[in-house]
Amino acid sequence: MSISFSFVFYYTSSHEVGKPVHFSDLTASHDGSDQLNRLRLDKNPALDQYFKLRADIVSRRLLLKLIIINLIVLAGGTMLSYLLARKTLQPIEENMESQSQFVSDASHELRTPLTALQTTNEVAIRKPAITSAEAKEIFHQNIEEVVKLRRLTDCLLKLAKNEHGELPLYPTLLSDIVSDAVNTMINPAIAKQIAIEDKVPNISVMADKTSLSQALTTILDNGIKYSSAKSTISITATSQGKFALLTIEDRGVGISSEHLPHVFERFYRVDTSRNKQADDGFGIGLSLAKKIVSQNKGEIFVDSTPGKGSSFVMKLQLA
Ligand code: ADP
Repeated sequence: MSISFSFVFYYTSSHEVGKPVHFSDLTASHDGSDQLNRLRLDKNPALDQYFKLRADIVSRRLLLKLIIINLIVLAGGTMLSYLLARKTLQPIEENMESQSQFVSDASHELRTPLTALQTTNEVAIRKPAITSAEAKEIFHQNIEEVVKLRRLTDCLLKLAKNEHGELPLYPTLLSDIVSDAVNTMINPAIAKQIAIEDKVPNISVMADKTSLSQALTTILDNGIKYSSAKSTISITATSQGKFALLTIEDRGVGISSEHLPHVFERFYRVDTSRNKQADDGFGIGLSLAKKIVSQNKGEIFVDSTPGKGSSFVMKLQLA
């Protein structure tokens, strides 16, 4: 486009510049006729040649300038298209990268129970004979691994489901979301004699109730898993400017500062040798909770002191 415009511009301009000026054109104006009389221009061939030469030089300069301008436009355009193409492709690239990361992480997680299952059965099959008690023990171990695999695939499915898409948000009472999650977790809490204190006032937030209570359930589940028996988990909320801050505080094992920045990463787990019940996890819960909170246009933070407990804060938009 720029080249064709330049071509037309150059052709018209050089044509106009090179065109001879007629005597009648100059005498048309009063000033022109005066000067002409002084210079006797119409009868001066040297002056005529000078004008031709000048027209040639002007045309060449014009051509050079147009070439430079076009080169700049070409270079700028190429650069701009490259940057725009990169910007457009970036989310697609990120999406593909996160998908392949997910597949490799998931396969890695699936391998552990599958290998255990394979080893148990291979060892059993090599024995010349097994008693019924031994067979029962092997079946028991197999079932344990199969249960683990089922839970893991359930978690992976949940993760995949929550991978894309925006959620429609509606004004929702925070206390309703909290009581949904507390009701889901009340039995595991009772089993461990853990008290859940719900002190959430009537604050309305923009939320998708089902998913947000699922995220809160995960935080409560962790609170129970990583606390010793007979402790307390408290849930409070305050409003701050345009946001509501929902805090879930436990008095459990806590998370050390070295692990704290990573707990929301997918498949990240802290060494759980101190807590047998925590062996149930796959390191998916918090990454899923974070995803859900961000789909609810919120943010989630954690603060923790090892040996004292952890505090998770969800920052949500007030309705
Ligand atoms: P998991 O299934 O292992 O619990 P999560 O993603 O829910 O996976 O949590 C990641 C890690 O963060 C856990 O392995 C655990 O070590 C740590 N964690 C999460 N919540 C708590 C908590 N309330 N108290 C102590 N540690 C926690």
